[in-house]
Amino acid sequence: MAYITLNKNNFFNNLDIIARFTKSVDKIALVLKDNAYGHGLVEMASLASAYGVKKAVVQKTQEAKKIEQYFDYILVLADIPSAHESPSGKIRYTINDINSIEKFPHASLVELKVDTGMHRNGIAVGELQEAFSRIKEQGLVLEAVFTHHRSADELSSEWFWQNDIFKKVKEEALKLACGFGFGALRFHSANSASLFRHTDFKEDMARIGIAAYGCMTLPASLHVEGFRPVLSVYANKISSRALKAGQCVGYGGTFEAKEDCVVANYDFGYGDGFLRICSNKYTTSSGKELIGRISMDNSSFLCEDEEILIFDDASKLAESAKTISYEVLTSLKADIKREIL
Ligand SMILES: *Cc1c(COP(=O)(O)O)cnc(C)c1O
Repeated sequence: MAYITLNKNNFFNNLDIIARFTKSVDKIALVLKDNAYGHGLVEMASLASAYGVKKAVVQKTQEAKKIEQYFDYILVLADIPSAHESPSGKIRYTINDINSIEKFPHASLVELKVDTGMHRNGIAVGELQEAFSRIKEQGLVLEAVFTHHRSADELSSEWFWQNDIFKKVKEEALKLACGFGFGALRFHSANSASLFRHTDFKEDMARIGIAAYGCMTLPASLHVEGFRPVLSVYANKISSRALKAGQCVGYGGTFEAKEDCVVANYDFGYGDGFLRICSNKYTTSSGKELIGRISMDNSSFLCEDEEILIFDDASKLAESAKTISYEVLTSLKADIKREIL
């Protein structure tokens, strides 16, 4: 059966590098959304906790509940708790829209997302005062104000002007917090690519996903040395056969044997998360050539090994699929067995 291995040493190595930039493990908020970028939510939560990470970020409440025991703080990026849900002292909810404030149950712990240029989620900069007033009226506990960069991974002026806008947001938010009698506020804006552009990181935390998993690709001038991929995918042989020159493999017969050869079929297909666009154009790091179209539950390679390593660096597979490592990783199905090494 196809399976995934998670390399604990590589993960800890990545966290070491990240902690050097945040200057403290307590400022790392590990992003565990989408099944921990395909790695396995509970597996990665338990490893992170063993390392000493105390903060996590997820998309939904359901994910937060599964990992509550491992962290002191969990930020939910896009979900509104229902009124009957028993409140948890650990879970914080994101306000993504000014008109959603009235939907949060009284006394919910919340963080306010501000749109500083991405124009995806968050209240407009000009809505800060209105948001604070509605948060007060609704009786919510505002703990932080944060934003997200749209182009931290590209060398351009974008990262700088978004930081300038966020700096003004911070100043205004601090004044408003005073005026409305709120407690101390925390501020955060950095994802992986953004953190490593700070030479002297001073924010209260960084929301780190892809760097922790060791699959960050950045332009040469922003490159940070030393990250190692955590996840590898292995597949096992279902069957093999000898082909005569001219015989074709798989749906549509898109691979034709140039000479007599032996090919084998392995138990990892697009239904498991092997992006079908890689069909006929992927070679593994150990030189096994993918042949023909990827099927739902299997794929064929020009080799006859019992077991093959499909990939141990999602960035490389992403290159052949002309996509990003995030998509390769989050495509991996949750029911594939995960083994921690
Ligand atoms: C996914 C996400 C992150 C993590 O981004 P990486 O590039 O993987 O570090 C951080 N913040 C928010 C709001 C996100 O949605």
